[in-house]
Amino acid sequence: MQQTFYNFSAFELLKDRKPLLVCDEAFDLFDIEFPCEVTRFSDFTSNPDYEDIKSGVKVLKKNRCDFLVAIGGGSSIDTAKSIKYYNHINLPLMAVPTTSGTGSEATHFAVMYRNGKKQSVADKKLLPEYVILQANTLKTLPLYQKKCTMLDALCQAIESWWSKRATPESILYSQKAIYLILSNMESYLQNDNDGNTKMLIAANLAGKAINITTTTAPHAMSYKLTSLYGLPHGHAVAICLPKVWRYMKNFNDIANALGTEHYEDAVAFFEEMLSELEILPPQNVDAGDLEILTQSVNLPRLNNNPVRLNKKAIKE
Ligand SMILES: [Zn+2]
Repeated sequence: MQQTFYNFSAFELLKDRKPLLVCDEAFDLFDIEFPCEVTRFSDFTSNPDYEDIKSGVKVLKKNRCDFLVAIGGGSSIDTAKSIKYYNHINLPLMAVPTTSGTGSEATHFAVMYRNGKKQSVADKKLLPEYVILQANTLKTLPLYQKKCTMLDALCQAIESWWSKRATPESILYSQKAIYLILSNMESYLQNDNDGNTKMLIAANLAGKAINITTTTAPHAMSYKLTSLYGLPHGHAVAICLPKVWRYMKNFNDIANALGTEHYEDAVAFFEEMLSELEILPPQNVDAGDLEILTQSVNLPRLNNNPVRLNKKAIKE
């Protein structure tokens, strides 16, 4: 079972503990005080590598840590989850997301890279035991990053809904997430406290949805866009989603959740939203790139798509 807190008083749980704090440099922007001594581990990149994880496990062992605390975006939380996965003793994990996007604090899987290849580990024990959703953590996030992470959450909620593995429970999470994202987008982008809180909750719900279903074609197609053009994850996924949806010609129930009647209106709404947010496709894509992009679609995610997409469809 996971316990969720909405303020930092939950750090009291760390009293008499020796936590390993997994965080990136953004952590130094926050004024967080722990009731105990912490060992900090920040020696990992934004796409954490298996070697980073191994050195994290070493630091944990050397300092006899008995708790894991992850404070940061998806990379920090995934790194802490992977350290937990590869440590032979199962330690409790507390996750404090500082972006409202990946929902990694709500899932039982973690992504890392091994020899340059994306690899996912999944285990029930990877779902963090404690989560803190605290609006102040979003205050210092640059606007563009706020947009990208929000769009990741929105796409995750939509993809989860149309996923082959959707359940009544996952659909409920998606519905609530979409509602919260659309009704709080403005105040969140203005960095209003209430908007930030609601967006953290929305991303968490979208995370709960994909924890059940995983993602689908837009995510499958996005990974190479990220590595080829350096597009942030949420940006890459968001530009794929309307194209895929137009091709699938269905899911008017999701269109309704977006406040439109028909899937075609929803696609138009989504594309207009992207242009207003200035989230645009990469320019100057040459034929060679297009071939690489078409060839390197993530297959497990693609197979979870409700409508089969062949090479020609993907290229389109
Ligand atoms: Zn995502």
